[in-house]
Amino acid sequence: MKAQTPPRNKNVKVIKAKSGLFPQNHLAANLSEIEKKYRSLFATNMIGIVLSDLDDKIIEANDAFLNLIGYTRADIKNGVLTWSRITPKKHDAIDQKKIKEILRHGTIVPFEKEYIHKRGHLVSVMVGAETISTNSPLNISFALDISEQKKLEQRKDDFISMISHELKTPLAVMKIYADLMLNARDKSEFEELKQNAEEVHSQIEKLTTLVTDLANLARIERNATKAGKDLIDARDVVKDVVEKSALAHERKIDLKGKRSALFVQGHRGRLWQVFNNLVGNAIKYSPPHRRVVVEMQKDGKYALIMVRDHGIGISKKEIREIFNRYYRTKHASAYQTEGSGVGLYISREIVKAHRGAIQVESVPGKGSTFTCRLPLAFKK
Ligand code: ADP
Repeated sequence: MKAQTPPRNKNVKVIKAKSGLFPQNHLAANLSEIEKKYRSLFATNMIGIVLSDLDDKIIEANDAFLNLIGYTRADIKNGVLTWSRITPKKHDAIDQKKIKEILRHGTIVPFEKEYIHKRGHLVSVMVGAETISTNSPLNISFALDISEQKKLEQRKDDFISMISHELKTPLAVMKIYADLMLNARDKSEFEELKQNAEEVHSQIEKLTTLVTDLANLARIERNATKAGKDLIDARDVVKDVVEKSALAHERKIDLKGKRSALFVQGHRGRLWQVFNNLVGNAIKYSPPHRRVVVEMQKDGKYALIMVRDHGIGISKKEIREIFNRYYRTKHASAYQTEGSGVGLYISREIVKAHRGAIQVESVPGKGSTFTCRLPLAFKK
């Protein structure tokens, strides 16, 4: 919170810090009590904690807070670290409101705001504050880093606007065809329309994928992704995906490895979706003339399904992110605009429910290999 000169209470003497967790001249009888209570809290690295009076100056802050905004303890000592320095102008109004709140009630309802990092960027935080001493205006503020949640919220918003856009296009195409059919005057016009049924079919497929993704997301959020108990030959499922994808995208896909069965226990439809997503991505993120290879192997007690492409690849930094909900690499958005950023997240959750794992190796500009590892049903 930024403590701008508040309506000053004449009975309150503002006490400045000299050193230590609490101001030296604030060593009232109850200080050791308060200090004991808050020292362990200060040591925590999970939450940023700041001690301040009603001035703009920060008296003390723990490491978590300093790391959050990129300042050092020396900056506190030299008076460089002040509330006004780290508070963006746009938060002035809410800060003033919160100062009034703490003066009146001794506490504030936590709220979201931003701090300016020493390097200049903004850091999203959830802050709260409480008066810890009634005979002097000493406040303790808490700041929790919520940048990740904020990024996720932003990606979710982008996802929702993308979904509504993606839903509109197929619906518009289908409406046009339905209108044309309704208005067709004779058999020959009907025949003509029939030729375009393929387009309607492909739009329906798009819609189905989107709706399935949404249903899967909802199921994952409810923690309800179960593997199922069917005995499935993973080889058959992979083969089916490869044949259908090759046909639909007019791409040559090499299928290599294992000729005998690879039995796993689970849910055929969901595993199909996982392989379909991996193969679909390999096609989507590589140029049409580059080979896509799908290979199946037995590795001890596991079936390995590897999908390799020679496409745009993924940087080391982004590999950590691609399994997160709604995440799309910058390169992918530029290279191929279609995509929701939920396929890998859903795939990983399905594979996890089958007690398996998905790994990825990739070199930017060279290509990627996604390996799906599933426990075999017969572990001989
Ligand atoms: P999308 O619908 O965007 O393809 P996914 O969840 O399937 O969503 O993938 C998340 C992101 O991971 C993609 O947007 C892309 O940036 C990256 N990605 C996935 N597969 C590949 C691949 N084979 N090559 C390069 N990037 C990939």
